[in-house]
Amino acid sequence: MLRPTAIALWCAVVLAPIHAVADAPVVVVQPGDALSLIAERAGVSVAQIKEWNGLKSDLIRAGQELVVGPTAASSPNDEIDWTPPFDYGTSPSTTLEKHSAPIAAREASVAVATTQESKKDRRKSRTYRVKSGDTLTGIALKLDTSVAEILEMNPDLNPDRIYPGDTIDIGEPRPEVTLTLERGDTLLAVAERYGVNRRDLARWNSSVRQGRARPGIDIRLYTRIPVSPSEAIGPTNHGRLENGVLLPRHPGYVIRTKNRAYGTEETTRWIVDAFNAVDAKFKTRKVVRIHDISDRNGGKIRDHKSHQNGRDADIGYYHDECPRSGCGFERLRASELDVARQWALLQHWLKNDQAEMIFIDYRLQAKLYRYAKRKGVPETQLNRWIQYPRGKYEPVGVIRHFRNHDDHLHVRFVCPYSDVRCRR
Ligand SMILES: [Zn+2]
Repeated sequence: MLRPTAIALWCAVVLAPIHAVADAPVVVVQPGDALSLIAERAGVSVAQIKEWNGLKSDLIRAGQELVVGPTAASSPNDEIDWTPPFDYGTSPSTTLEKHSAPIAAREASVAVATTQESKKDRRKSRTYRVKSGDTLTGIALKLDTSVAEILEMNPDLNPDRIYPGDTIDIGEPRPEVTLTLERGDTLLAVAERYGVNRRDLARWNSSVRQGRARPGIDIRLYTRIPVSPSEAIGPTNHGRLENGVLLPRHPGYVIRTKNRAYGTEETTRWIVDAFNAVDAKFKTRKVVRIHDISDRNGGKIRDHKSHQNGRDADIGYYHDECPRSGCGFERLRASELDVARQWALLQHWLKNDQAEMIFIDYRLQAKLYRYAKRKGVPETQLNRWIQYPRGKYEPVGVIRHFRNHDDHLHVRFVCPYSDVRCRR
């Protein structure tokens, strides 16, 4: 799942990180650098750097970007009216305890920081004074918001009639979210999911700018779209699932039992993605059945040893001929397997390294293997992906033989990077 290592909620977000990139002096940490050296070079204190960057410790990494001066936003001449709506003196990566503090308590602390009572009403929103040459799109871009959000905040605003000096309500800053890129994530997909764009991701992350964004890397973004907190815990035969996500409906499959169709956010997304990949390849559609994944909270369920932490799914095979209601869970001869579709589905998980194990009857493996080979999949790849032809008891390949898997396949997805308590 995508795990928010730091979700800063409304007033807890200090503006520094959003605008630092554009407005404040920034340095990139070099190998061997220390906070004290950087502070000395920039002529500021270690405490200031920590505050500007929301650092809780002195720990820094090479390649990390650090703000080493006040943001332009804090200068009095800035166009943006940063009337103190937020927790002044709170660092951007406020701890989760602070976020979960009662609202009244948070507001009290704001009230202390805000000296003028009259400003209280405005604390929840930012305002922007329009200057000549501004467009709504430009303002939205500059302030990490969208035209739609601005229009929602300002119902009376006519987008074609904005004049210098007008005041526009920009609303609260978007919460900051740090997430770990998972296998199969593309920047485009992440951007779409969180309602931002790739340029934004590049602006906010040096790893993206430098082409170092790959699975396992943390990236930061600002979004109002909630991040799934699902988490697979423990091993699959003795584990549980926190904040499981119900597998969404899809025209490519039928879900047998809804209350056993919960997985991690990754599991459900990876299943949907694979069925979309099949759809993209074939003009006509076949429907398969999906039986159990996990219970909403994981743990032991009837008929299964595994399926306990939201990473296992039982999925029917694509038959050559299926009734319109969908291919059932029926024993299948290799000759009856719709190998092209089946391979398209499997290959999606294989090439994105999303599957830890896929149980498929050995005879069906043979047909898949020959098909993939004909399609030009290199031998080295096939060796890694599929047990056949090395014998059904050889512990090799992602796809392996397991008894009773001639009427359905069982896919076990890898532990998401961010689910640190998940075990193989
Ligand atoms: Zn199973």
